[in-house]
Amino acid sequence: MADVNVHCPQCHSAHVYRHGHNPNNRDRFRCCDCLRVFQLTYVYEARKPGVKEKIMEMYLSGAGIRKTARVLNVSTNTVIRTLKKENALA
Ligand SMILES: [Zn+2]
Repeated sequence: MADVNVHCPQCHSAHVYRHGHNPNNRDRFRCCDCLRVFQLTYVYEARKPGVKEKIMEMYLSGAGIRKTARVLNVSTNTVIRTLKKENALA
């Protein structure tokens, strides 16, 4: 089997192994160091790297929740959950 050069998106370790597949038959991987499970590609926009930062950026520049959700192609609940986790709505 060909060895794919996969790195953990969280800790950048190359020590990962295949951890089954998602319902669309894309491979899932697990990091041996931080035990996180991740995929190389995601269908849902909010799982892609950098989207959470974009949500915070849009919130801080005054965009509303629904506008942020529409522009980034994620759900309003994702925007609200991200803002709550970052304590932006407190
Ligand atoms: Zn890791």
